[in-house]
Amino acid sequence: MRNILVVEDSPLVLKILEHLFRQEPTLQPLFCASLAEAQVMLETSRELFFAAIVDLNLPDAPNGEVVDVVMRAKVPCIVLTGSYDEHRRDELLLKGVVDYVLKESQHSYEYAFRLIHRLESNCNVKILVAEDSDATRHFIRRVLTPHLYQIIDACDGDEALRILQEQPDIDLFLVDHSMPGISGFELVKLLRQKMRRNELIILGLSADAKGSLSALFIKHGADDFLRKPFCSEELNCRVMSTLERRDMLRALKQAALFDSLTGLLNRRAFYEQGVQQFRLAQRGQQALSVAMLDLDFFKTINDEHGHASGDAALVAFARSLRAALPDALIGRLGGEEFALVSQMDAARLGEALDTLRIELASLRYAGNAPPLSFSAGIFHAPAEDLESFLHEADHRLYQAKRSGRSKTVAA
Ligand code: GH3
Ligand code: MG
Ligand code: MG
Ligand code: MG
Repeated sequence: MRNILVVEDSPLVLKILEHLFRQEPTLQPLFCASLAEAQVMLETSRELFFAAIVDLNLPDAPNGEVVDVVMRAKVPCIVLTGSYDEHRRDELLLKGVVDYVLKESQHSYEYAFRLIHRLESNCNVKILVAEDSDATRHFIRRVLTPHLYQIIDACDGDEALRILQEQPDIDLFLVDHSMPGISGFELVKLLRQKMRRNELIILGLSADAKGSLSALFIKHGADDFLRKPFCSEELNCRVMSTLERRDMLRALKQAALFDSLTGLLNRRAFYEQGVQQFRLAQRGQQALSVAMLDLDFFKTINDEHGHASGDAALVAFARSLRAALPDALIGRLGGEEFALVSQMDAARLGEALDTLRIELASLRYAGNAPPLSFSAGIFHAPAEDLESFLHEADHRLYQAKRSGRSKTVAA
């Protein structure tokens, strides 16, 4: 839970904000209607606040004085303003506020919440800035700091490369084109041979007046480009939008590979990775085991205890299965049917499944729903193709079901 200080006197705006906060279970607002109240709040419990949303025009502070108070307390500050004024905007951004939000529509208030969530994730975002000009590097640091990123500086391309090697968890690389030694452009080409877009975001920078350089940067794999001199807002917007794009890409990838209920590989990903594993094992003339597993009388859990209990059973089973066989490739093929590929021989795999069966007998997953039991079929042989192994394992699973369930058939 994050506490957000809200300093606002307009009843209408408060109503909108209250409504929006109700939809944000992880954010807890603390409302103040004046500068004096906010001052007391910050003096007594500054460390309580993750960020602040403040109105520039308060009864006892009509000229944005509240911003200085919040900034002095080192609380990230998002400004609400009724009018757009370039001079005022520049002044605020110079002071280091996170951003300003025009009180125009519900959409602009939603932007304030997007900013807060971005701040939360930014704490874990590492940005490397490679720029030989001290002035530009300091400017970039000053602009990005209010957004809570972790910022690392490099004065030239070689230093940047060394840092990227030492810290593979860097998320975003801001790189100037003309630097002593290796140029920004060469760096992009080099990095893109190893790192894909969802592993490292690259933003090119250059004072070059020709548009062709930006196109070249992007064609060689940069995600975006900024021409110097750029204003602080433009830098922030581009950093934020490329991070959002990366996060969306990651979410899509996650959704394409994993089953959303259990977090196990979905059918397609299990087949793709399984085929890969078989190919490698076949080349190395190794044997592999494939097991098919199916929960017993699962329909009864749904029918007698509700679909939510059925879902809880699937989640609990998947978690236990993964814990029991940490090295196996495990997928949910559909419904309450699971498959795995393991390097264990049939006897050892059978033992691991027996241990799992005993654990499940005492595992409670939903109210007074009955203990989980499952049947399994194992096929073990020198690796050939996944499809035929699955077929053999399924045949044995059928035998396990037919001969009384809650057992594993391997022979
Ligand atoms: P058996 O011991 O022969 O395997 O019987 P069973 O009841 O486990 O098998 P059956 O194939 O008759 O029923 C499977 C049920 O699983 C039917 C379906 O509604 C349910 N199911 C499939 N996917 C989900 C899911 O994602 N959540 C829940 N709660 N139920 C699911
Ligand atoms: Mg330069
Ligand atoms: Mg079943
Ligand atoms: Mg079934």
